[in-house]
Amino acid sequence: MNNSFDLNSVIRPHILTLAPYSSARDEYTGHSGVFLDANENPYGSVTVEDYNRYPDPYQAEIKAKLSPIKNIDTKRIFLGNGSDEPIDLLIRATCTPEKDHVIILPPTYGMYEVSASIHNVQIDKVSLTADYQIDVNAVLRAITPDTKIIWVCTPNNPTGNVMQDEAIVTLLNNFNGLVVVDEAYVDFTDSVSWISRLDEFPNLVVLQTFSKAWGLAGIRAGMCFASADLIKILNKIKSPYNISLPAQRALLEGLGAVEKKDEMVKEILKERASLRTMLENLSLVNKVFPSDANFLLVHFDDARAVMAYLIDEAIIVRDRSKVHLCEGCLRITVGTEQENEVLIESLKKYQQNSVIA
Ligand SMILES: *Cc1c(COP(=O)(O)O)cnc(C)c1O
Repeated sequence: MNNSFDLNSVIRPHILTLAPYSSARDEYTGHSGVFLDANENPYGSVTVEDYNRYPDPYQAEIKAKLSPIKNIDTKRIFLGNGSDEPIDLLIRATCTPEKDHVIILPPTYGMYEVSASIHNVQIDKVSLTADYQIDVNAVLRAITPDTKIIWVCTPNNPTGNVMQDEAIVTLLNNFNGLVVVDEAYVDFTDSVSWISRLDEFPNLVVLQTFSKAWGLAGIRAGMCFASADLIKILNKIKSPYNISLPAQRALLEGLGAVEKKDEMVKEILKERASLRTMLENLSLVNKVFPSDANFLLVHFDDARAVMAYLIDEAIIVRDRSKVHLCEGCLRITVGTEQENEVLIESLKKYQQNSVIA
């Protein structure tokens, strides 16, 4: 339990005192009536479907559906335009440009660094260990009085592994800033979500997304779970209608079809196992790293040549061969059974060609 954490000391003073924009739909939230408050078009839209009304700024219906699924109070849920939005807002809420610091643990997801750089916030990098775990003592040493956020990604992108619980608990207990645990791939692992420990740690923030397991990358929707006080701050600084009406409609539909998400996840996990086996049987593959996500990190003799060959075959994977601790690796998303077969057949052909050459 982190008893010394004080949210007010982490949030920038001018954000604490900021008066947010008050939208027309903040003042009246009823569903029926004559709406002459928001300068909308009363006749409808140019499209077949009507989108002429502004959407709910706080997405109450969606949060009411999400709350029992994630077993968390609606007051502790923030929805963003992708996870990218809460990543950006958390930095804006806590970090004064040029002065404050965030800690990232490479190799990891690129947006933590990009977002901090956009805000001209200092980035301190503490490498993961050789087995892709958190170097806890090195992270603790890197904390300064100006460090506001430690970004932890678990299961980690691009390495695919889960970070040890004890390491994250140590950070939570010994840091008076925010520890943000990005669980974009949580649906693909047996490890329990850190959402279940939000009560224990007031400085814990959990990110999840609709872009992976839910199959909704195109609508741009991410979830942030944290203390009710921090969620209030994020709501205060977000743009008023950050989740569009079509996105809100899709989310409501999706949250009513959890079984479909579960079925697809089951299928992806099955395919992850068979893709692993097929890759491991190829002589050009040196190693397939363990994965708790929907991708495999794969080490090749000559990753860049394989990458170039695959592009020629119109098969696109992610080149991580120049990334710290991932040298020589490609990150391959688990596709459908057919897509995975196309990939494997292509790699077999490459193998044969190299033997002949
Ligand atoms: C894919 C991914 C996300 C999702 O980002 P969205 O903006 O929600 O699409 C977040 N974090 C990590 C680590 C990811 O790999």
